[in-house]
Parts: sequence; C-alpha cells; structure tokens
Amino acid sequence: MKQLRPGDRVLVSCISACGKCRYCRETRFGQCIGGGGWILGHNIDGTQAEKVRVPFAETSTHPIPSGIADEDFLMLADILPTAYEVGVLNGRVSPGDVVAIVGAGPIGLSAIVGALLFSPSHVVAIDLADARLDAAEQFGADVTVNNGREDALSIVQGLTGGLGADVAIEAVGAPATFELATELVRPGGHIANIGVHGTPATLHLETLWTRDVTITTGLVDTYSTPTLSRLLGTHQVDAARFVTHHFDFEEFVKAYEVFSNASETGALKVVLAPTA
Ligand SMILES: [Zn+2]
Repeated sequence: MKQLRPGDRVLVSCISACGKCRYCRETRFGQCIGGGGWILGHNIDGTQAEKVRVPFAETSTHPIPSGIADEDFLMLADILPTAYEVGVLNGRVSPGDVVAIVGAGPIGLSAIVGALLFSPSHVVAIDLADARLDAAEQFGADVTVNNGREDALSIVQGLTGGLGADVAIEAVGAPATFELATELVRPGGHIANIGVHGTPATLHLETLWTRDVTITTGLVDTYSTPTLSRLLGTHQVDAARFVTHHFDFEEFVKAYEVFSNASETGALKVVLAPTA
C-alpha cells in the first residue's frame, strides 16, 4: 500500500532502500542489493534540482513532522545519521566514556552531537584548524586539541590515567588521522572510522594485536533517522546551528565557493533553496 501523497513534506535520505532485499530486511539499507543503497548523486543523478526522481520513494523518504523546519530536518539527510550510526553507535559510546573525535568538520561536529546523547565524561575534539575547534567547543566538546602544535596523545592520556580514550572516532578520512585514532584508543576500546578514505592507511597490527581493540567501518544505513527525527522534535538535537549560509538556486557557483573555502568563510553547511 502506498502512503506517500502529493504535497507531502518529506526528507530524501542519502540512502535509498528497496525494502525487500536481504540487507534491507536487516535494516542495513546502505548495503541494499535490490537497486538502492548509496545511489543518489553517486550512481544516478543527485538532488540539487527543483525536481528529483526518487527510486523506492515509499521506503527511502521520511515524513517531516510538523513544527520542524525544512533546513533543520535536512541535516538528517546524511551527516547526522552518518556520524550517529557509524561513529557513535558503532563506537559503542557509553555513559562516562572519554570520546576522542579526530576531525572537527561537519561530520566530526555531528559526532559530538551524537556522543553527548550518551553523557560521556569528556569529548575531545582534535583538528588542525582553530576555527573548527572553536565550532567544536560550541557544539559541546569540553577539550579541544590543535594537533599541529599540541600532542593529542598525551592530552588524551592525561584525561584517562594514561590509558587512552574509550572510543576514538575518525572523521577525516586520511591515513594520518586513522593512525592517530588507533593510537588514542585504550586497550579494549573502540575505533570507529567514519572518514571516507581515498588512499590506503596503515593498520599497525604489530602494536594493536595485544590491545583488544575493536575497529569498525561503515557506510551509513539511515536506520537511525526516525530516532534522530524524534530528538529534533524534543530539541535534544539542535540541527539549525550546522547551517551557516543560505543561497538561492541562482547562486550555486557562489555556494560551492563558500563551502570549499570553509577555513576562510567559516562554512559548516550551506543551504540552497529556491526562492518561493
Ligand atoms: Zn534493498
């Protein structure tokens, strides 16, 4: 039975789900083998247009509850569920944990938001850019480390009696940051990789093999989107602060310039919307 109706206000998720294949039945929509998965803007056209064809729309869109602004809900299209599922939940963030987040771009900031839902004792944000660390502080990180001039490992060890972080979340996607995440974690801890890696990173099994660590990777499944939707509704998650810039559909090039020069413009997320 079809539930979507013309005029419905819905979120188009970054992940499409056929709803029928083995992975969809396991709520691993990112791995859909029935024609869905990460297809929008990847295998087929993306969504930066006035009109978009959405395959499997019944199982791939989410109704936007009344009272939540379009652009707040927009952050549930990708970054918030990605950081929550692949970083926070895969990393098993638990009350009292020390959580080290390597990278304070939009995904790292989303990981801070998600981690704070579990009452960690410390959230340590690590980045090379002071502007991003300022943002991390505003998003709730209580310790910020510029690892261009500070030693992240000794700071994390100082917070944990020399042990290391309970959870290290990699939110950059570079060899050096992945290796840093594996150094920061305590024996028995979790390393959750969110970063999109384009080149090989070294896995130092010669030091890690005795340390009982768990390393997880993942493409977002978006199974948490309904949960995050409720948390937006109760204001336990504040998505509005991700949006730093607004542009009209006539200003795509300018919007991309602002977004790609984030260190100068302070851009986190830019919203492109047609003027009504
Ligand atoms: Zn499927």
